[in-house]
Amino acid sequence: MSTTPLSLILSRLQQLAAATGRPAAQLLAVSKTQPAASVAALAAQGQRAFGENYVQEALAKIAELADLSLEWHLIGHLQSNKAELAASHFDWVHSVDRDKLVDALARYRPAAATPLNVLIQVNIDDEHSKHGCTPSQVMPLAARIAAQPRLRLRGLMAIPAAHEDPQLSLPAFQAMAALQRQLQASYPQADTLSMGMSADYPQAVSAGATLVRVGSALFGARPGKTAPAPAHN
Ligand SMILES: *Cc1c(COP(=O)(O)O)cnc(C)c1O
Repeated sequence: MSTTPLSLILSRLQQLAAATGRPAAQLLAVSKTQPAASVAALAAQGQRAFGENYVQEALAKIAELADLSLEWHLIGHLQSNKAELAASHFDWVHSVDRDKLVDALARYRPAAATPLNVLIQVNIDDEHSKHGCTPSQVMPLAARIAAQPRLRLRGLMAIPAAHEDPQLSLPAFQAMAALQRQLQASYPQADTLSMGMSADYPQAVSAGATLVRVGSALFGARPGKTAPAPAHN
C-alpha cells in the first residue's frame, strides 16, 4: 500500500486512539481554496467529510461533487445573511456562536432534510480578533439549539491561539474538553469536540478532540494563501 498524507494522518489518529484508549478521532479534510478536483482525489482515497470556510466558495464545489455524496462541514465564521444558504447545503455548521444564528439556521433548514448538525464555537483564549462565544454562553446557547427540531446539537468547536510550540495549546484544549464534558452531562447527543489543525492535532486528540480539522497537512500548502481574503464569506 502506498503512503499518502491521508493514510499517514489516519494511522497517526489510530496510534493516538490506542494511546488514549478512546475511539479514533474523525478526520475532517479542510478543503478551503482547494479546487474540486483535489477534493475528488481525496474522496477517491476514501475520505468522506470535508470542511469549508466560505459559503460561496463551498457551494460551487458541493454542486460539482454532488454525485460523490460527501459530508460537508462549514467551519468558517457565518454571517446571518448567509444562514439560509448554509442551512440548505451543509450537513454540519461548526461556527454557531450567537442566538440570531441559531434562529436563522433553524428557520431555513429544509423540512425534507435531516436536522442540521450544529457545534457551538467557543472563543477559549478570549482573543478579541476571533469569533466564538464565551464559555459562560455555552449552556444558554445549547438550550436554544436543543429546542429547535431542525437543528441537532452535536458539541463544541474551538480555534485556540496558535503557538510555535503546539504543547502550549494543551491548556486551551483541556479547557475545551472540560466544557464539553459539562455540556454532554446535560445533552448526551453533544458527542463531538472539534479542535486541532495540521500543526497541533495530536495535542488536541490527547486532550479529547473527537474530530480534527486538517488542511495543509493533507493537501499541501493552500493555493492563493498569500492572496487577500475573499470578499464573500
Ligand atoms: C484553515 C482551517 C483549518 C485547517 O488548517 P491547517 O493548518 O491547514 O490544517 C482548520 N480549522 C479552521 C477553522 C480553518 O479555518
